[in-house]
Amino acid sequence: MDYDFDLFVIGAGSGGVRAARVASAHGAKVAVAEEYRVGGTCVIRGCVPKKLLIYGAHFAEDLKDARRFGWNVPDCDFEWKALRDNVLADVDRLEGLYTNTLSSHDVEVIPERAVITGPHAVKLASGREVTAKYILVATGAWPVIPEIDGAEHGVTSNELFLLDECPKRIAIVGGGYIANEFAGIFHQFDSHVTIINRGGDLLRGYDAQIRDRLLQISVTKGINFRFHAKMRKIEKDKDGTLCVRFEEGEPVACDLVVFATGRKPHIDDLGLESAGVEINDKGAIKVDDYSKTSCPSIYAVGDVTDRLQLTPVAIREGHAFADTVFGDNPRTVDYGCVPSAVFSHPPLAGVGLTEREAKEKYGTIKIYTSDFRPMKNVLAGRDERALYKMVVDATTNRVVGLHMIGPDAPEILQAAAVAVKAGLTKQEFDDTVALHPSMAEELVLLK
Ligand code: NDP
Repeated sequence: MDYDFDLFVIGAGSGGVRAARVASAHGAKVAVAEEYRVGGTCVIRGCVPKKLLIYGAHFAEDLKDARRFGWNVPDCDFEWKALRDNVLADVDRLEGLYTNTLSSHDVEVIPERAVITGPHAVKLASGREVTAKYILVATGAWPVIPEIDGAEHGVTSNELFLLDECPKRIAIVGGGYIANEFAGIFHQFDSHVTIINRGGDLLRGYDAQIRDRLLQISVTKGINFRFHAKMRKIEKDKDGTLCVRFEEGEPVACDLVVFATGRKPHIDDLGLESAGVEINDKGAIKVDDYSKTSCPSIYAVGDVTDRLQLTPVAIREGHAFADTVFGDNPRTVDYGCVPSAVFSHPPLAGVGLTEREAKEKYGTIKIYTSDFRPMKNVLAGRDERALYKMVVDATTNRVVGLHMIGPDAPEILQAAAVAVKAGLTKQEFDDTVALHPSMAEELVLLK
């Protein structure tokens, strides 16, 4: 049977763009439909603009610290709009690059919403109907908003990059990635920040000692936390002030409420049922190891599936899909030892098993830690300590987990993750000569 395309991708985010480009390089005729902007969450309203805001936020402390290093820094003002506009301009630039990449690979970019109408059929918002031998769903995830009265007064991370002004008081609901990253950003911009968490833990999934250190540093900096806080409603006063009310305890007054309460697969009205694509109990598309759904001609990659909600993982899934289906090279993604980081202030990062997970898996383990004040913090008079932690399987001496919080932790951990992924032992770390003076040298000096 003849189809209009060999591959029709729905969603031009990280996973979809990679799959489209590689499939086309393998000789497939490819189209991508995107209802918003090419680049997806990571480029347009996630990792990239967030990281640029973090760079911007860091200057608050850097400018203060500079005085201890001999610089006559005058009192400086911060202009939110200048940073916002520069960041948005860079997002535009990147969107252009992503679009060019697709065009230069002869991928047709269709700036419209697409809905699946059958195993090989898609209908576009314009009414155009298209057929394809394979369809790839790469529509990502969408923020979840808790169902409480007045939720419409809050925003999500999607809107944070577009704010007209920096809020004087901000309440962030959730204790995960987005909550901790934006708490650090807005605190540096001098906002009064309150994190509202329904439970007692931040950043579940990361090592407990590292999370505790982040909490301790955040509290010392002046970020407020409300734990075990069950929200009742959000009210808006005439002057625009928002008031978050709880089942118990004092309300929180603020100028902006942000919901950072997780993201769910973006599948609403996508027409999956018309092709018999099955969904799991978390609302994600069910796929096999090759990203194939219950419909043999439809695949799915990235956050719309229930694997790891991380950009580099979506990219690998998209690439593996294209190689498998169009490159005559069937391959799956290895989800073992995927490093991850939270760009909080300071950032934290981890790879492999936490202490608790390793105990459950191996029984006997050894823990090595280095709790130190980075040299720069000492001269700056900044009483903020870094913590590195190595988890070792006591039987084989293999390093099975590495966790750290401190300046540049994600940069250091990415390199060290290679060693953990390769299954190196504690002895092999110790055999490597330290690079002095650096923070990373602590990794080969752990006692
Ligand atoms: P997370 O899953 O990290 O955290 C969600 C938080 O919201 C948790 O503290 C959770 O509490 C809480 N929560 C969930 N539902 C409710 C509710 N109904 N009411 C109150 N609190 C609730 O999600 P984020 O939104 O922070 O981020 C979404 C995803 O985006 C992340 O999972 C991550 O994969 C990705 N991301 C990655 C980044 C990175 O790699 N640096 C940066 C930003 C996002 P509890 O713990 O009790 O479940």
